[in-house]
Amino acid sequence: KFITFEGIDGAGKSTHIPFVAEQLRAAGRSIVTTREPGGTELGEALRNLLLHQKMHLETEAMLMFASRREHLAQVIEPALARGDWVISDRFTDASFAYQGGGRHLSLDKLNRLEQWVHPHMQPDLTLLFDVPLEVARARLDAERTPDKFEREKADFFADTRAEYLRRAAEFPERFRVIDSTRSIAEIQLELKDLLAVL
Ligand code: C5P
Repeated sequence: KFITFEGIDGAGKSTHIPFVAEQLRAAGRSIVTTREPGGTELGEALRNLLLHQKMHLETEAMLMFASRREHLAQVIEPALARGDWVISDRFTDASFAYQGGGRHLSLDKLNRLEQWVHPHMQPDLTLLFDVPLEVARARLDAERTPDKFEREKADFFADTRAEYLRRAAEFPERFRVIDSTRSIAEIQLELKDLLAVL
């Protein structure tokens, strides 16, 4: 199975990935954890460019999908073919949310890139960690050094979050929206229940 973690910066997804991986390993699954942009040597080089270099919005979207193409070929598809489960910190929903929702690149162009890069594959489960902007902002201020993306204005994150929620409503069969304002312990209880039915 292919499980993706999504959410705006500060929503807390990174906190829960090790927990989910551990739960699934304890249940006897062989787990590969990975991330986007990144996940391969080339992908990590592209991530570095994406995070630190100013570029045209369409260049940014195409590099995200270039990173993803490599990630699918080198990591995700071989792992799934071996029967391993893959947990990815972000995937294509992030492109729709950030480049589409946040930065207003046309969803039609993003759909065409998706059709090009992975026409027939979607995550089996997408966990969307959702928090109001004030909560995300407070967590980032407390925890992290701002980088290019995190210095964006509040509108950007509002639009990014809205696009995530729109996609969750559009693809309810694979999305689960996790109320990430709750305590880590409460969220872990919900995650256990979700994983039990996989
Ligand atoms: O999830 P992670 O913190 O590793 O993401 C790194 C940065 O890349 C984040 O600040 C996120 O806002 C940004 N990003 C983006 N578009 C994507 C994926 C990530 O702007 N498609």
